[in-house]
Amino acid sequence: MRKMANVGGVLIGGGNPIVVQSMTNTDTNDVAATVAQTMRMVEAGCQLVRITVPTMREVEALQQIKERLRAEGCAVPLVADVHYRPEVAEACAAIVEKVRINPGNYVDKRRFEHLEMSEEEYAASVQAMADRAHPLFDICKQHGTALRIGVNHGSLCDRIVSRYGNTPLAMAMSALEWMDICQQTDFQNIVFSLKSSNVLTMIEATRLLHEKMLERETLYPLHLGVTEAGAGDEGRIKSAAGIGALLLDGIGDTVRVSLTEAPEKEVSPALLLANVQALAAQVRSRHDGETLTLECDEPDRQRWMIATAAFAGHELIHHPYKKLTINNIHFPTEERENVADMILQACRIKMTRTEIVSCPSCGRTQYDIQGTLAKVKARFNGYPDLKLGVMGCIVNGPGEMADADFGIVGASAGKVCVYRQKERLTAPLEVDEALSKLEALIRDFRR
Ligand code: SF4
Repeated sequence: MRKMANVGGVLIGGGNPIVVQSMTNTDTNDVAATVAQTMRMVEAGCQLVRITVPTMREVEALQQIKERLRAEGCAVPLVADVHYRPEVAEACAAIVEKVRINPGNYVDKRRFEHLEMSEEEYAASVQAMADRAHPLFDICKQHGTALRIGVNHGSLCDRIVSRYGNTPLAMAMSALEWMDICQQTDFQNIVFSLKSSNVLTMIEATRLLHEKMLERETLYPLHLGVTEAGAGDEGRIKSAAGIGALLLDGIGDTVRVSLTEAPEKEVSPALLLANVQALAAQVRSRHDGETLTLECDEPDRQRWMIATAAFAGHELIHHPYKKLTINNIHFPTEERENVADMILQACRIKMTRTEIVSCPSCGRTQYDIQGTLAKVKARFNGYPDLKLGVMGCIVNGPGEMADADFGIVGASAGKVCVYRQKERLTAPLEVDEALSKLEALIRDFRR
């Protein structure tokens, strides 16, 4: 049975068209800025707008944002993004049309310490989670609020990791645990997402969850996204390869293209992906067993990149091709080869540059993450064996980039800390000072 979520009248799943959504990156307490950004996103075609709500203080701001938007005639459904604080999620559920929670930190936490659990401990932990979640479901039911259960590879809790490792299966099982506890109280207005900055992990986890839902004969809507995809061509290509590969198999009901750019710029690539079947029909393909060759003479650069990356992502996960050739009469050889390299890197077939993961930023970010990402790319882009993180905040950033070799993480107003994997190496520093420290670390790492 195909389930559908109703988010303030926007229907997700159940055969409805793919819904496009994005997230503000203003300080939620700056009500005027958040309202203005939301309206720009809606004007660009965004159908759902997510806003971070870290504490009860931002709950008040959220109420005001909603009132101002409605007074301006903007009816877009709002989604509160909540981590760590069940009481904040419960308060938001009475205000906005949807709440996103993260099973990795709603009750359980990731502390990288409690990695062995007996059956009894495991069962008690699941029961504690259910007990804490049921009041949220009651509030959602009372107010007609939808819930996204948003699992992130970088923030799986210790309990799940203790049983399934840090794997795509663990991500799917984390979602299934929440599916069970939602069904215990017959709460059905739910959407699931399984995100990772690794395209293959995100695809595998989502396919696993989809298969397991098919086995249970209950198909809840799926939200698709590649987290920390970065910016520019790379971010668009990584997102299109992951999201497109799933949509072309008929998996997925709503999408967010997550870029370290202004959120309104996420909307046009997301709208293209929402119509990926038509877009991919422009691409012709052939192969010789090892090399996949794609032909697409679309003249619009972004349409061409998204169509090609989505089509290639789908082919490359289903077949063992090792090389990719892209033809388009409108773009020079060097540009086509560069796009092919970015697609192969996104699908982890051939690494030709530093892998840089960077979050889209949100109201928790207090430094110029877009400028910092540009500097990191300019200085450190040529190392295929290196993975770097550029993250907006110290709350979620270190966990989400835990498999990066090094990272820059926002710490306080205008300041960042340097990390080696999940270990913080410095006090808060100015960005340029942190980049010099990073340069020295990379030099040592590569010796
Ligand atoms: S890691 Fe980035 S997107 Fe995630 S909560 Fe922190 S600032 Fe926001």
